[in-house]
Order: sequence, then C-alpha cells, then structure tokens
Amino acid sequence: MADKVNTLPFFYGSITREEAEEYLQHAGMGNGMYLLRQSRNYLGGFALSVSYSNRCYHYTIEREPNETYAIAGGKSHRSPVEVIDYHSQEMDGLVCLLKKPCNRPRNMQPKVGAFEDLKEKLIREYVQQTWNLQGAGLEQAIISQRPQLEKLIATTAHKRMPWFHGSITREDSEPRLQNGSRTNGKFLIRQRDLQGSYALCLLHEGQVMHYRIDSDRMGKLSIPDGKKFDTLWQLVEHYSYKPDGLLRVLTEPCQRPDGDGINAHANITPSGGILTRLKSVPIPGLIKVPHNSFCLLIHLLVLMSLPMDTEVYESPYADPDELRTSTVDRRQLFLEDGELGSGNFGTVMKGIYKMRKYKSVAVKILKNDDNNPSVRDEMLREANVMQQLDNPYIVRMIGICEAENLMLVMELAELGPLNKFLQKHKYNISELVHQVSMGMKYLEEHNFVHRDLAARNVLLVTQHYAKISDFGLSKAVAEEQNYYKAKAHGKWPVKWYAPECINYFKFSSKSDVWSFGVFMWEAYSYGQKPYKGMKGNDVLLMIESGNRMDAPVNCPPEMYDLMKTCWTYKADERPAFAVVEPRLREYYYDISQ
Ligand code: AMP
Repeated sequence: MADKVNTLPFFYGSITREEAEEYLQHAGMGNGMYLLRQSRNYLGGFALSVSYSNRCYHYTIEREPNETYAIAGGKSHRSPVEVIDYHSQEMDGLVCLLKKPCNRPRNMQPKVGAFEDLKEKLIREYVQQTWNLQGAGLEQAIISQRPQLEKLIATTAHKRMPWFHGSITREDSEPRLQNGSRTNGKFLIRQRDLQGSYALCLLHEGQVMHYRIDSDRMGKLSIPDGKKFDTLWQLVEHYSYKPDGLLRVLTEPCQRPDGDGINAHANITPSGGILTRLKSVPIPGLIKVPHNSFCLLIHLLVLMSLPMDTEVYESPYADPDELRTSTVDRRQLFLEDGELGSGNFGTVMKGIYKMRKYKSVAVKILKNDDNNPSVRDEMLREANVMQQLDNPYIVRMIGICEAENLMLVMELAELGPLNKFLQKHKYNISELVHQVSMGMKYLEEHNFVHRDLAARNVLLVTQHYAKISDFGLSKAVAEEQNYYKAKAHGKWPVKWYAPECINYFKFSSKSDVWSFGVFMWEAYSYGQKPYKGMKGNDVLLMIESGNRMDAPVNCPPEMYDLMKTCWTYKADERPAFAVVEPRLREYYYDISQ
C-alpha cells in the first residue's frame, strides 16, 4: 500500500508537521486543501494535513492490525486514499470536507525518512549475521521475509544506536552525560525495566533531566502526556527537531561507552542526523525478553516463523567442508518408525542422516516386491532432476541410497502437503503461495518444467515455510526450444494442465504457470479440490469454451485476477513466473505491512 502511496502527487513522505504547514501556506491555504505525509511516530501510519480558515489541522491515519486505515476513532478503510475519498464526501469529525489536493512541487520526490535509508543496511546485516547467509541465499531470504524483517529491525534498531545505553541506573546515567562535552541537549536513553519503561536523560544547563518513557497497553511509547510512538528511534527523531514539552530539543547523542571507537562495519555509512549516527554494535539476539505487547507479538512472530531458522533453508552442501556426493551411506542413515506418506512406488519414512551434522530427512523407499523396472527408472529420473536443483523453496535431494531397497533421501518437510494443512489451518496463504512462486521462478530460470505442480506437492517445513516437491514428472528442457513434448498421453493430473498440454502434449514453464493458477485456487480455497465433481474431459470442454473456475469464497480479488491471468488460453500470452512472482510479492508485502 505504502509503495502505491508514493506515487500520489499529494504525498510528501516523511516531512514534519511544520514542513506540511509551509507547503499548505505556499499553496494558498484554501479551505479544504490537504496533503498526505508519512507518520513519523506510527509505523506504517500516515498523517493528513488540512487547511481551513487560515489554520492547519493534522490528523493521524493509523494503520490498524487488520490492514485497514482510519483516523483515530473513525471509520476503517482499505487504504489511506480511501480515507481521503471518504472525507471528501463526509466530514465525520474533520474540520471540513477535503476539497483540493496540495500537490508536491514539480521535481520533488516524497521525502525518505532517515530510518528508511538505514533499514536496508540493517536488514542485510541482520540476515548475514544471524543466518550466515550470502549471495543468492541472502537475497532470497530478504525477498521472502521482508515484511517480518522490516518489523523486526524497526522495533530493535534502537539497540544499535549510540544513545541507547541499555539497563543502567539513573545514578550511572548522570556521569555519562556530565563527562566530556556538556552541550545543552546531549541525551541518552536507558531501560528502566523489561515491561517497556525507559527514561530519556537530557542535559540542560549542566543538569541532567530524567523523563520517563512508558508504554501503554498497545505498546505505544510516550513521555507523560506526550505524543505516542511505536519505536524509540521515532521518539528520538521527533524530539530532536522539536522540544514538544521537553526543556529543549535533543542535540548530541551521549555515546555509549561500550560502543566507543568501534566502527568495524565499513558498510554502514552514517548519513548524518541523530538517528543515523550508528555504532556497530550487533543487534542482540532475539532471545531477550520482549519489552511490551507490540514487541512481544513481533518477537513471537519472528521467533516461531522465519524459514531461515530451520536447518533446511540453506543448502546442505553450502558448508564448504561437506563432501558433495549424491550417494548416501546406508550406515549413516537411520530410519524412524512411522510413515510420512505413501505413493504407488512405496512409502516415505522419516529418518536421520549423519552428515557433518545430523540432519532430519525424508526417505522415499521403493517397494521391494515391485520389481517393475519402470518404477525404479522413474525414481532414478526424479533423483536426477532433483540433484540439479538447489533453492530454498524446493525440496532438496541429499542423495540416493542403494541398500535393502532403493531409497531417495531428501530434506524433511515435516508438516506435509499444503492442501491438507490448509484444511485445518487457514492462514499464511499469501506468504506460502509467494514462496512457491519463488521456487517456480527458479525452475523457469533453470529450464526445468515441473509438470505436477499442485497443492498436494507443496510440502510445509513450518507454517511459514513451503517447498515444492515431487519431481516425478519433471523434465529439463532445452534453452532454445523451451518446451518438452511428451510422446503419449500418460497418467496426468489433467485438472492442473494447460490446454496445450492436453491438446499437443507440450509442456513449458508457461504450462507450469497454468498449474500455478490452479494451485493458487486450491490454496485460497483452503485445500479444496479444483473442478469438484467434474471429469477431466468436462474440464477441458469448460476451458475451451472460455470458462474458468469461480473465485474461491473470500479470495482477495487481486489474487483471483492473477489466477485468471495464469489461465490465459494461449501460452505465449500467459505471463511467465518472472512476472507472476513480483505480482505476488507486491500483494504479500502490501497485506503484511
Ligand atoms: P510423493 O510421492 O513424492 O508425493 O510423496 C508421498 C507423500 O510422502 C507426500 O504426500 C508427503 O506426505 C510425503 N513426503 C514426500 N516427500 C516428503 C518430504 N521431503 N518431507 C516430508 N514428507 C514427504
């Protein structure tokens, strides 16, 4: 949502209230003239500045937990623009109707907040340090988890600021401010307890003033009777441009002693301002006790969820000391009781494989009594394809084991198939669907066609982490030709197949895109069967006559639009995963903000 707001001519970005007033004055202060700016105290929120009777009025548009926007106490809307549209028809508490946008001067871009600049660097560093990821793995992690990472960084960034002195006493804070320069406005923040209470300590005419910062039930931080903020860095930024009840503005951050003189991370280039004068103290781990309900939520969300926390995010062979071989030593493989699943080839069991570390694995075991060589060949072909793939959103093969049975050893995705999972747990759909699109984009880029993409073949590692599996029908395709032509009709999942697959036996990444549309339909209908009660032939007739499945109940319209685009009849006109993935990404970021 915020990205789209950026393109509005009357959106000014992170300007202050005073700057907003100047722009309105410049534009003539007509009654009902308005502009929109980014909230400097609420994460993801906005502020609406309106002129009326030669005065300016400012309203906060808060982002509510259910992804809606509202002026405090007012009606909820789907976007800040809808709030504005509404108030151009209804005053509903505003000083007047919104009449005319006050557009940005020509050539002025919305102002980027100090933190925005810094955020990218912090996210990158965080992912590098915490999960030890580099290169493609790092990029994929950031793309797929950006909304969670942004929240995490926003609420923990203060720990990296030189002005944040942690849990020191009032007595300890005073000499720190009195030492060295005794500039008026020199300040630090200390933590008073673990319940979200802090103190702002400010040097004023040689004396240290202590202001309590408390958090309310919603976790919003404020000095008594002061403005409320989501984060400490927003509070510091605010009081460094305006005293707003303090004896004076914050000027110079008092350097935390443990951070003095360290600046090993040359990649962080402070761009000036109190906020960005960083010390390179690593962001402490997430195990710290959270300081308020908002943070609790974020911490729990992050602690339980990030795919990078699992052992199967990184390739098992990313470790340079690990021997890469596609054969698994039976003596190092321990099978556990209980089946994970089964198919016509045999069963899938859980196991442990001793690499440098012990690794949980899933083992596909070929039935022994089935001496049918074609099933064996099929499994070897599947292994051959899997061996060539290495992506966090695709089940990786560890190796083949020839022992009492032929076994295919893979990464474990313990929560099993997505369709079954969604029948019980109706959440995280867009996050998971987006991950599958990232895996499919990887296949497209590497010239593989999956040919069996369906919710039953997307397995879950955690409720926030999906991987594509079952490469039994997959093929590598020549780069020039970019499709695979089957010799004959086989045992095909026709309800997932594009018309050209059925009519001409032609399979390409574009026909995988068609299947992806059906997969999306399954996901947004919580694991229902597509074209329920219909025969394969009837499905084909329905498609040929130009009809498509209806939207699942409660399916977001943007997502149904995307499904229908995936079901474009002509493969040439159908979007590639290179197009589908960014569209999903945009939607997923929007709703996760
Ligand atoms: P497949 O024939 O590959 O679809 O596998 C049959 C069933 O085994 C799947 O539906 C899953 O329930 C289970 N399974 C297959 N691969 C894995 C895996 N890597 N991790 C966990 N379960 C798996």
